[in-house]
Amino acid sequence: MSPVPFPAGLLPRELSEAYGMDRSFRGLQAFKWIVKGAKSFHDMSDFPAAERERLAALAPKFYSSTVESALDDADGSVKLKIRLNDRSAIEAVLLVDPEGRMTACLSTQVGCPMACAFCKTGTLGFLRNLEAHEIMEQYLHLASLRGRISNVVFMGMGEPLLNLPELRKAIALLEHPEGFQLSSRKITISTCGIVPGILDLAEHGPYVRLAISLTAAEDELRSALMPVNKRYDLASLKAALLAYQAKSGDRITLEAAIMGGENSSMQSARAMAAWTEGLKVQVNVIPWNPVEGLPYREPSRNEVRAFEDELERLGLNAVRRAKRGRGVGGACGQLGDTLT
Ligand code: SF4
Repeated sequence: MSPVPFPAGLLPRELSEAYGMDRSFRGLQAFKWIVKGAKSFHDMSDFPAAERERLAALAPKFYSSTVESALDDADGSVKLKIRLNDRSAIEAVLLVDPEGRMTACLSTQVGCPMACAFCKTGTLGFLRNLEAHEIMEQYLHLASLRGRISNVVFMGMGEPLLNLPELRKAIALLEHPEGFQLSSRKITISTCGIVPGILDLAEHGPYVRLAISLTAAEDELRSALMPVNKRYDLASLKAALLAYQAKSGDRITLEAAIMGGENSSMQSARAMAAWTEGLKVQVNVIPWNPVEGLPYREPSRNEVRAFEDELERLGLNAVRRAKRGRGVGGACGQLGDTLT
């Protein structure tokens, strides 16, 4: 008999089928329990006792993963190191902003194959894609620590668009109207620019928020910082974003991690402004977070301000991203330091 899939990755109907439940509505009942944080079928008190016993015997391990450590930041953020069933490990972060909004930053891969030069995760190499239940368990672990989560960003370890089938399953679970009930506007996929993945999303959805790690809009510079650009250059990326925006209608977020003296020049700001022409965007300017062993420097305040001012002067909406989670190595590009 093949093993029963872990429950956190299953929609109500799938739960009912995979576990051979005695009534079809029990799938939805079980799903609601999982959303509420049940840790075992034994917790599902509105199931008949015999059915609870049978289900619990099928899933002696309800979650496939365990939290190995939780690092609290002074700003309220928390970073979890999560041990997976195969003994590999990932990180997930809950970022708390001054308005009290709780954003779960979830990983989609163990490590990452994209090797962006400024990113800690990129130095770890790539092991495998996460399955939907492993993505959802990150959310559930964070929710059990901090309560209701208002937003989800797929911006943790890994490139989400290289794991599109499992990502789609996780989004369907997050959006389920009888479950987590997150609207598509509260979910963001952040990609380094996987053009076929963006075109796939444009054609088939889901039409959630899209963020692109742009970093630079000059092909030579971007290729040096982000090897993905050698495969999918800026022209093909822009064409894919136009296709996605035509369907989603939403503004696209461009993430610009600024490293002092690398991509902080006025020429780089002007190239970025020119490249966005025709796209509805917001640029998140992120002063690069230092990562030990990487050959970049944090930009000065003046460099960042001048970069933003130039973008604004050219008509772009530029927003400085707060350095949430930085104290626990949970800020952008820092994930992976508890794993090495
Ligand atoms: S920035 Fe994202 S895509 Fe690039 S190496 Fe890091 S995790 Fe991978």
